[in-house]
Amino acid sequence: MKIIAVGWNYAEHNRELNRISIPDHPVIFMKPETALLKDNKPFFLPDFSDRIEYETEIIVRISKMGKNISSKFADRYYDAIGLGIDFTARDLQNEFKSKGAPWEICKGFDNSAPISDFLPKENFNIDNLSFSLKLNDVLVQKGNTQDMIFKVNDIIEYISKFFTLKTGDIIFTGTPVGVGPVKIGDHLEGFIENNKMLDFYVS
Ligand code: MG
Repeated sequence: MKIIAVGWNYAEHNRELNRISIPDHPVIFMKPETALLKDNKPFFLPDFSDRIEYETEIIVRISKMGKNISSKFADRYYDAIGLGIDFTARDLQNEFKSKGAPWEICKGFDNSAPISDFLPKENFNIDNLSFSLKLNDVLVQKGNTQDMIFKVNDIIEYISKFFTLKTGDIIFTGTPVGVGPVKIGDHLEGFIENNKMLDFYVS
């Protein structure tokens, strides 16, 4: 399986990264399967970064193989939604960006993608879904998918031009404003509407 992620998909978050212009297309990157972290296992802070930041994101699970999928049929290609954290080594990312170099390492390192269990998509409106993150009991991120620059179906159309989507692939759909660093001992709790989806510690 593969993990495909969208960057810069919420305007307020883009402003916090000092990115003002709206992208013409979804900005895509990938994480390898070894990035997955499941079952609320602890996230161990890696020693190669001094600033790992959380990014809370709605994720969708692909349920059918597809290529060149039209956005109007895209909802046939995923069956479930969940919550994920797109952990990012921000210090390395800034360094790579300043050199114009690819920043795969800062997004794709081991365990950089904690994910929740999945819920059937039928129970939700994917384009009006609220989600949030509490860090040590403080609400630090609150978003709604209606604020996405590119909607899930448009993301699937765009991605599938380049990458065949296969059953089990996961798409991270971007993070809202409020990203920030984690440290050892932090407690992260993630929610989709009122459902607690993630509950784990940084070690
Ligand atoms: Mg992200």
